[in-house]
Amino acid sequence: MKALRFYGSGDLRLEEMSEPTAASGEVKIEVACCGVCGTDLHEYRAGPIVIRPVDRPHPLTGGHAPVTLGHEFAGTVVEVGDDVDSVAVGSKVAIQPIFRCERCPACSAGEFNQCVSFGALGLHADGAFAHYVTVPAYMVHPIPDGVSMDAAALAEPIAVGWHAVSRSKVRSGDSVLVSGAGPIGLGALIALKAVGASPVFVAEIGDSVRTRVARELGADVVIDPSVESTAERVLDLTDGRGVDVVIEAAGVQAALDAAMRAVRSGGTVVSCASWETPAVVDLNDLLIREITLVGTLAYTDEYPMVLRHLQATGSELAQLLVTKRVDVSDAIDGAFEELVRHKDQHVKILVTPD
Ligand SMILES: [Zn+2]
Ligand SMILES: [Zn+2]
Repeated sequence: MKALRFYGSGDLRLEEMSEPTAASGEVKIEVACCGVCGTDLHEYRAGPIVIRPVDRPHPLTGGHAPVTLGHEFAGTVVEVGDDVDSVAVGSKVAIQPIFRCERCPACSAGEFNQCVSFGALGLHADGAFAHYVTVPAYMVHPIPDGVSMDAAALAEPIAVGWHAVSRSKVRSGDSVLVSGAGPIGLGALIALKAVGASPVFVAEIGDSVRTRVARELGADVVIDPSVESTAERVLDLTDGRGVDVVIEAAGVQAALDAAMRAVRSGGTVVSCASWETPAVVDLNDLLIREITLVGTLAYTDEYPMVLRHLQATGSELAQLLVTKRVDVSDAIDGAFEELVRHKDQHVKILVTPD
């Protein structure tokens, strides 16, 4: 089978690999489609970042470069290993790609996104830009009736946004600013509408597919920080009070500054972007205005909820969010280079196996 493998910065290779087989506790998945994530792009441009070099293999999986990328996927179970009775051959499944050591305090508490050996399929073990992949049985979630494979592959980035929203403790009727309308910001917007936050403002530069999708998903106002001050507009829109919650998914200093000004006293800012350089926060804002600054990573138990939500909304969401599909043989140019050059023309590119 063909697999798209990461060797180093700017060095992805389409290689012929032998098919994996399911070991004890694992299932083998025939991949239907797999989204390209911002993390994949970071690795492609500047990696290895979270991918391990050969002399520093991952403590749990032993994984290191070269590695097959791809962690946002859905597919069909084609083989189950010994000791697997939670899922049967033929099941259609979405994969929650985070490993668990199942021994540390975080794993015991169900917070496997904080596992001492945190790792993800497609970064720390071979992923799903390939025809087949094997995964631990605990990673698979059955896809409910009526949810397409495309929609199920979107469960991963939507779950990231969903977890950020649950970390914010937002309630129905709360006002929110989403800063950045990439896949994670839009995933958060989907969750915010589902929990009844209102109004929801979105800040995103320019007029692009991302701002159009934000409007389609129910953003009440879309603010363009390149033509007006996000913070001033939000203060105008909230009678000078500021929003209850900001979901900061842009990961640039100007957006963080705007978030700290746009949030009300006593409000919450959730940081869910990954930063290329350290950011500056005036901690006096936390002191004087009692702002709560919260971090968030990936997800814990959000998958079943997200998949249920996709039962009602999945086909519409897939139509809005999937901006291109490419065969794995064309993925270097058609997906990775395309996103490097024309990020603003895409939300999610799906890669299909050969
Ligand atoms: Zn991802
Ligand atoms: Zn653990």
